[in-house]
Amino acid sequence: MSKVKESNFQVLDMKREHYQLLINGARVDSTSGETYECKNPATGEVIAHVAKASLKDAELAVKAARHAFDHGKWRKLPVGKRARVLNKIAGIMRARFGELVELEVLNSGKSIGAAQGQVMQAIEDFEFYAGAIVGHRGSVNNVPGQFQNITEKEPVGVCAQIIPWNYPMMMAAWKIAPAIATGCSVIVKPASLTPLTAIVLGEICVEAGVPEGVVNILPGSGGTIGNFLVEHEDVDKVAFTGSTPIGKNIMETASQTLKRVTLELGGKSPNIVFEDCDVNAAVDGSLFGIFYNTGQSCEARSRLYVHEDIYDEFMEKFVEKTSRLQVGDPFNKGTHIGSIISEEQVNVIDGYVQSAIEEGATILAGGKKATVAGFEGGYWYEPTIITDVHHEMKVVQEEIFGPVVVVMKFKDEKEAIGLANDTEYGLGSAIWTKDHGKATRVSKSIQAGIVMVNCPFSAFPGTPFGGYKQSGFGRELCIETLDLYTETKSILSYYGGKPLNPFGL
Ligand code: NAD
Ligand code: MN
Repeated sequence: MSKVKESNFQVLDMKREHYQLLINGARVDSTSGETYECKNPATGEVIAHVAKASLKDAELAVKAARHAFDHGKWRKLPVGKRARVLNKIAGIMRARFGELVELEVLNSGKSIGAAQGQVMQAIEDFEFYAGAIVGHRGSVNNVPGQFQNITEKEPVGVCAQIIPWNYPMMMAAWKIAPAIATGCSVIVKPASLTPLTAIVLGEICVEAGVPEGVVNILPGSGGTIGNFLVEHEDVDKVAFTGSTPIGKNIMETASQTLKRVTLELGGKSPNIVFEDCDVNAAVDGSLFGIFYNTGQSCEARSRLYVHEDIYDEFMEKFVEKTSRLQVGDPFNKGTHIGSIISEEQVNVIDGYVQSAIEEGATILAGGKKATVAGFEGGYWYEPTIITDVHHEMKVVQEEIFGPVVVVMKFKDEKEAIGLANDTEYGLGSAIWTKDHGKATRVSKSIQAGIVMVNCPFSAFPGTPFGGYKQSGFGRELCIETLDLYTETKSILSYYGGKPLNPFGL
């Protein structure tokens, strides 16, 4: 009988001064001895030193993951036992919820409310896949002529999982949970700015009894470590969440070894407010849709289209509530808007806003870097509303990834759909209307992976998340994700009593 061995590995302090790599079930320094400084973007202060993976470390991680997959027991365990370990991971996370939230806030500068929601969802992701995997199975079909086909679902193998900085813990959970549920081994490459909670999550996996080599965490550079994993012939799949240009790059590189690829990329999601909506609900939902997570969200509803009949009323309320958003101390429970991830990103955001001003746009709120008393060393931007824009402007077409929304008027349903779809992206979208028929028609016409109807939220375990068009392909956070971490094998057998002689010789 195969057993899940009790682990004697324990995560003691989650918040500490030094973080190491996680390779083959052990914390190790980089073979190069290199470390780098990890900052709190709300203060600009260094909060920890993190081992920086070298190519040699990446090779060791691939070897460990390969060995665990080819010769280890994880994938061979009865599925209920793997499920039990996933639930144990969730249990440890629940018991240490406050510490995980604190670490996420420190490393990302996001508001504590946002971090709480995201860490809770990460926990629920493990619980969801613990349940889902038990029901994920192949099938049998009988072929006329006494043939029987058994369809098996086998784990795809070693998966490189490359994630961005905007939801460090949640993205790590979206990747690790379904992959290890199926029996795959993973090498996670967190964004170099935000590795801390992903490292700790890897350690929690080991503590919960995930065998050595199944989960490896490699903080380091995307261009070197990330690319090395995508090229490596012993890596079977790459699951990437990040920007569209890097996603294209990854798809091209992965083609050399014909790796399985899933891509969760950027967005420029439309938010359509019809004249027959509940205006107050639409204002509140639209505020959350763009300013949640300081606008650093792939599904941020960053293009706001408002019907001309209610434009003035809607905008008056929207601008007034924007002025009441609290920008500041991420640990303050009343804070709505935390910091931007880096100075570089503040400059990117400001560059977009300035380009709009130069092209004749009007700024209705914000439009500049923010200063926060006591947090002068941090990176801040004011929640910004831009109007008087036309559809060809950069601020309307490109993903800004900050607290910036562009607003336009529309006349009718047809025009709204046309504007919404006039983009290379297709991740999220939202519509506000009380007319059920209209909601259904517009939902069916929008080219996006997600349509939120009178609803500001998009990501719940069980609800497929992913993009159309250049927002990528593959769906995460759902049962179907398990298919993306498995290969389907047909085992076709003949059960007739009379030997087959197809050539008739
Ligand atoms: P990014 O593309 O700059 O980086 C993402 C990850 O890829 C990082 O870990 C980075 O180190 C790594 N990387 C960079 N170059 C690489 C290379 N050449 N080969 C392999 N890996 C490489 O993205 P970001 O700035 O961290 O995050 C913001 C982007 O992520 C936005 O475009 C946002 O829309 C997107 N995003 C999408 C989703 C989604 O589910 N669709 C979710 C969150 C974020
Ligand atoms: Mn980037």
